[in-house]
Amino acid sequence: MIEEIYKADSRRYEAGMEYRRSGRSGILLSELSLGFWHNFGETAPLERSKDIMRFAFDHGVTSFDLANNYGPGYGTAEETFGFVYEKSFRPYRDEMFVASKAGYDMWPGPYGNWGSRKYLMASIEQSLRRTKLDYFDVFYSHRYDPETPLEETLQALVDIVRQGKALYVGISRWPVVATKYAFSYLRERDTPCLIFQDRLNLIDRRVESDGTLANVRENGCGFIAFSPLAQGILTNRYLNGIPSDSRAMQQRFLKSSQISEELVAHIGKLNEIAANRGQSLAQMSLSWVLAHPGVTSVIIGCSSVGQLEDSLKAMKSKDFTTKELADIESIASQIKL
Ligand code: NDP
Repeated sequence: MIEEIYKADSRRYEAGMEYRRSGRSGILLSELSLGFWHNFGETAPLERSKDIMRFAFDHGVTSFDLANNYGPGYGTAEETFGFVYEKSFRPYRDEMFVASKAGYDMWPGPYGNWGSRKYLMASIEQSLRRTKLDYFDVFYSHRYDPETPLEETLQALVDIVRQGKALYVGISRWPVVATKYAFSYLRERDTPCLIFQDRLNLIDRRVESDGTLANVRENGCGFIAFSPLAQGILTNRYLNGIPSDSRAMQQRFLKSSQISEELVAHIGKLNEIAANRGQSLAQMSLSWVLAHPGVTSVIIGCSSVGQLEDSLKAMKSKDFTTKELADIESIASQIKL
């Protein structure tokens, strides 16, 4: 059967998506980005991945977040992206902002991990081949490497931009002191850090307390939040047991042992607040991150078009009353994972 040619929805920029400036740059990112960490690897149905990507783009998502090792099956989420990109998205390349990263274990031996120039240079070549892209919009150092001189990692990022393999540089999960150094190193070489990526959700607010958010803001850098739903905990997913197709059942990064009775009781209370706001818990959790000062975009993961459709509605209700915020905080602060 010949597959129908994809034509993006002509009203995609009227779906209610806000586009927020990343720090002091010229780049506007959709406030919701689509993440490929889970659900797009070799075990995920290709049709579903394609449907999710198309639905996202049709509803105003322009920002797509990849990394070399996303799968499962390292590299396979980038391969899925590349397959769908070639079939559906090539005509829309200039409307898309695509990120990839390197920093975690990717291939065997001493050159497939951490922050050496050798690893970053080889990895971006591989990522470009898998995604079928000519360049990434932003390329990240995925984690801080305490052994490699920071200058080596940072200069590799600068050179990646100078070689035209990426337009901008990003940093993910670096400690504050190293990030300060990175910001000045990159700025002095006319490659200012576009965006910083770290975890932020109702139950993990470390980036506020350790100075990450303040540092990013002071340096004119954007901030993009990952795991806004705490990998699915901050949704209705686990309110009535652990579904067999859920992330907690995969026992990889989220374990079923974390879904305790006490946790579910707290989540139930958050769910009631969300219901009183006329939102699903996923929507309220996303709205909360979106309402957070200094957030440029929030990266959502999803395992179905239905979840994506639900999550995208978070854009509609980003205002919270003082009481709602206090009630949320009082419950969320009791949650220990
Ligand atoms: P979330 O916290 O948003 O969790 C996503 C999971 O929540 C989904 O897989 C699904 O679980 C569940 N879910 C999503 N939407 C709904 C909904 N509306 N209703 C009910 N359940 C829902 O995000 P991730 O942890 O996946 O992180 C998002 C992205 O951030 C990643 O894909 C990646 O791009 C990036 N990231 C970056 C990291 C870094 O080091 N820089 C680290 C981690 C993530 P289920 O699968 O069970 O259906």
